[in-house]
Amino acid sequence: MSDCIFCKIANHEIPSTIVYEDDLVIAFDDLSPQAPVHTLVIPKAHHADITDGVPAETLAAMVHAVEEVAKAKGLESGFRVITNKGADAGQTVMHFHMHVLGGKSLGEGLV
Ligand code: AMP
Ligand code: ZN
Repeated sequence: MSDCIFCKIANHEIPSTIVYEDDLVIAFDDLSPQAPVHTLVIPKAHHADITDGVPAETLAAMVHAVEEVAKAKGLESGFRVITNKGADAGQTVMHFHMHVLGGKSLGEGLV
């Protein structure tokens, strides 16, 4: 989608701090980190959210990318993965993304 900021990041049209990339997915650091490690994993193809017909192969690639992010960021002691869908979840960028959060004890709030 031409006006989607995450499509532009996936196409290297705007800069990001890339942590991992393959043919199907790209992972980059969040601009406004909410934990010492806050990296986003997105499919390169545009899907609005987790329910938007994401192929199984792409979902598997995203899970693999989460593993690569954890390795690259040294998250041996654990991390949290969150994806927001829709207004009640506070989704602000309408291109499916997984937040990978870690680098400190995240506590017990919101799972
Ligand atoms: P969500 O609220 O789940 O839609 O999360 C969107 C996330 O994208 C937020 O955490 C933003 O800080 C992050 N974000 C927005 N624009 C950029 C960007 N250009 N580069 C990196 N992260 C971004
Ligand atoms: Zn997009």
